[in-house]
Amino acid sequence: MRSRKRVEDARLQLLVDGVVRLAAGDLDARIEPSAERDEIDAVITGVNLLAEELGHIHADLEQRVATRTAMLRQTQVELERMAKTDALTGLPNRTLLTERIQEAVLSSADGGKGPAVLLLDLDSFKAINDILGHNAGDAALVEVAKRLRSAVRASDTVARLGGDEFAILIDSATEDEVLHIAHRASESLQESVRIGAETVWAMASIGVCIGKPGYPAEALLRDADIAMYRAKARGRNNVQIFHPDMLDAVQERSRITAELRTAVAGGELALLYQPVVELASGGVIGMEALLRWHHPVRGTIMPGSFIGIAEETGLIFELGRWVLHEGLAQMRRWRQTDPDLADFRLHINLSAAELLRPDLLDDIRDTLARNGVDPRHLVLEITETVLMSRGTGEEQVLSRLRELGVGLQIDDFGTGFSSISYLTALPADTVKVDQSLIRDLESNPRQQKFVSAILQLIFAAGLNATVEGIETAEQAAQLTSMGCLYGQGYFYGRPLPAAQLAGQLRRAARHL
Ligand code: C2E
Ligand code: MG
Ligand code: MG
Repeated sequence: MRSRKRVEDARLQLLVDGVVRLAAGDLDARIEPSAERDEIDAVITGVNLLAEELGHIHADLEQRVATRTAMLRQTQVELERMAKTDALTGLPNRTLLTERIQEAVLSSADGGKGPAVLLLDLDSFKAINDILGHNAGDAALVEVAKRLRSAVRASDTVARLGGDEFAILIDSATEDEVLHIAHRASESLQESVRIGAETVWAMASIGVCIGKPGYPAEALLRDADIAMYRAKARGRNNVQIFHPDMLDAVQERSRITAELRTAVAGGELALLYQPVVELASGGVIGMEALLRWHHPVRGTIMPGSFIGIAEETGLIFELGRWVLHEGLAQMRRWRQTDPDLADFRLHINLSAAELLRPDLLDDIRDTLARNGVDPRHLVLEITETVLMSRGTGEEQVLSRLRELGVGLQIDDFGTGFSSISYLTALPADTVKVDQSLIRDLESNPRQQKFVSAILQLIFAAGLNATVEGIETAEQAAQLTSMGCLYGQGYFYGRPLPAAQLAGQLRRAARHL
């Protein structure tokens, strides 16, 4: 009896040990039943079955946890990829590019060639977006991404930094190789892009920074950006390599930008007026308004030093608005003091960029009406540009300006982008021949023939010509003999404040 009790105790102890092991997480623990097949064995078998079940549940849970963990990791990888990829083009974005630049700098630290960064900014993307809409803009960006990708080597990174900015990282290459890639990228963008029925151009200004080993990673992108701005300033659609001198120019630019913002409100802008004359009689038939910035510290700044910056920063809209309001207010004052100025015209320079100012037409119409000036007495002088070809938004604005009744004049003809096709393609009525064409007119017979031919072209297109920059009586006489009717230049009068133009205006009144 006693011994039986002892045996039972030992079996119960075995059962308790087994349960304790199971409770401690050892799901493989099993309790050996005895040959007795009594209640204790029944409990042991029950516990063993439970342990078996627990084991299955546990394995199942483990499996599910493993699957979930794998899914989470996958999502994380995907999120990471998305966070580093540009959704529109599928190219690496700024974050990934920056990482790769850092890697490239590190791996070049142990000797070898340094990495190079190219920064590309499209030259007329804003116009594509504004005129053809965002879908067209997106399509152009995708096409640019594709062309850039195929212009570089597989090992190079092409990234989209945002907007119309792209970058190319070349891990290690000689200066010649880098330049070669830059020009190939540029060439790939020379061909037009077709978007539905439209044809657009997506050329780029390209800045290049070639990093020697040890060049800080963050400086590579910054300096490529600075070089890119130089490319913009050099007429766009070209490649520039960063040089430390460029930093001074950048500081100057950002200072001008900041100060220009306050110049309008601060009353620092002023207009000078230069007479436009009829060559035969010398009579004044109009005045061209020319902008000046009277800077409180740096004195008078000429438009050549700030119009370009204003165009790039969008400040040109505000400047243009001010010029229009001030010029037409002056026109009203002239007409009030001199009612004889019947056909006298005010010329205002308009940047091509201003043609995209949404309120331009309304503003011109309202300002003319407010000052009681007939639209026929306003001439808008427009220089440039690549975009002013048939079918663009700019051309539509020009046509609507013509409908308004204002005169349109192609300025600086014979330089830069202006081409003969403009003469017939644009809805302009007069052409101003650039002063560079007549600089040595007196002494250079070839130049005489050239100017004469240009004038014939203009006349053949049914347009009137004004030649600017006339400085001598001889130039005036030669131009007259070539059939040119109108002119402008220091010979007839320098740009002056309105207050000093009373004499010129009397000549105008007598003439008109
Ligand atoms: P532009 O419209 O072709 O103006 C003619 C430029 O030649 C003016 O320079 C004028 O002062 C200068 N000029 C006139 N006659 C002679 C001459 O006989 N000899 C020489 N050497 N130069 C002469 P400025 O005032 O410095 O203006 C430069 C350019 O800035 C203008 O060229 C025009 O494109 C732009 N600009 C001026 N005012 C405005 C403005 O209100 N809005 C815009 N968007 N651009 C303006
Ligand atoms: Mg002009
Ligand atoms: Mg001009």
